Amino acid sequence: MTDPTIFRCPACHSAPLVAMPGTLSCGACGKTFPMEGGVPLLVADLAAHEGAMAQARAVNPDWYRTEQPPEAASPWRHHLKKRRHYVTSVLKRELAQRGRARAPRLLDLGCGDGTNLLWLKDFAENLYGSDYNPVRLARAHARSPEATLFLADILDYPAVDGCFDVVFFNHVIEHIPDDGAALATAYRILAPGGLLILGTPNEGSWWWQLAYRRAPEIRRTTDHVHFYTAESIREKMRQAGFSVFEVEHMGWGPPDWHLDGKWRQHKWVDDLFEILGRTLVPNQASSLYLLATK
Ligand SMILES: [Zn+2]
Repeated sequence: MTDPTIFRCPACHSAPLVAMPGTLSCGACGKTFPMEGGVPLLVADLAAHEGAMAQARAVNPDWYRTEQPPEAASPWRHHLKKRRHYVTSVLKRELAQRGRARAPRLLDLGCGDGTNLLWLKDFAENLYGSDYNPVRLARAHARSPEATLFLADILDYPAVDGCFDVVFFNHVIEHIPDDGAALATAYRILAPGGLLILGTPNEGSWWWQLAYRRAPEIRRTTDHVHFYTAESIREKMRQAGFSVFEVEHMGWGPPDWHLDGKWRQHKWVDDLFEILGRTLVPNQASSLYLLATK
């Protein structure tokens, strides 16, 4: 199902696009955007996008192709569950403050394989997800056929200004070289008074920098180009125009990537690290969540 009213043309920035059988087209410049398996490909230059994806896959094939494990299959499943519980409690609280149980339009910006769409749908009247990787979008579409999904370049984003009430921007920003431009997009598409939930690793902290120093080969496989602290990402968000009103540190573990995944598979270990970390090294958590409005 595709709702064309939120879209704008990535080529000429006119809105809205017009839905035709099997395609979306721009009434202003006439450009048409094909659909692949029910997912519109909303990039101005599809050949260039495919070329960039092929280059990226050649450098780091695993990151671009490997299926993202569902929460229950991840070594960090207990940590991921804590993150999900935090985000769902935030959504309940913030939507209630706005007099709603569900957001009229909720976007998972960089939805990947769509593992988060599965529970985000409980908080959305209309659920949207976008990604730049068509391999992941196909999986997301199979998992959540009710969501409106589209291929997009975050630096030339095909949605109209202020159209999303909630933007969930989870573990994406650390992968984007021009993070300032990506945050500018998130700001532009968020409705005034809307909610941005941004999650990112706390990998600029000395604790996790130590983990990378001990295992430089991991750094090459993550595809991360930014290593933020709470202060550095908060400042970037402020520069993009956001009012950040909550910063949450979450998840503690040994500063060793191999041991971290091995030990924290056990719930009692993950729980113990959470208690000790929160008390002894509160700023050295593995994950950050920042809540912001516009
Ligand atoms: Zn156009």
